Amino acid sequence: MGILDMELVGGVTLMHLIIGIVALIVLLKIWDLVFKTKTEDRDEHYEAARCSCGWTGRVSKFTRTCPKCNNEIVRG
Ligand SMILES: [Zn+2]
Repeated sequence: MGILDMELVGGVTLMHLIIGIVALIVLLKIWDLVFKTKTEDRDEHYEAARCSCGWTGRVSKFTRTCPKCNNEIVRG
């Protein structure tokens, strides 16, 4: 009986534990990749803007008005 077949608790062996940890790491990598892609997507659709009223911030490319005064915003 090898060390990997050693039962730790309730039928769970060291092999099961290693498989579980590897699966968890893979899942976290995938999650990180998906999250990173989502963040980049969000950045693509938002850009810096400023308004004559003094408001500055980030708005959607499709937003044409200032969230503070509702006037047309200036890009940049
Ligand atoms: Zn404004």
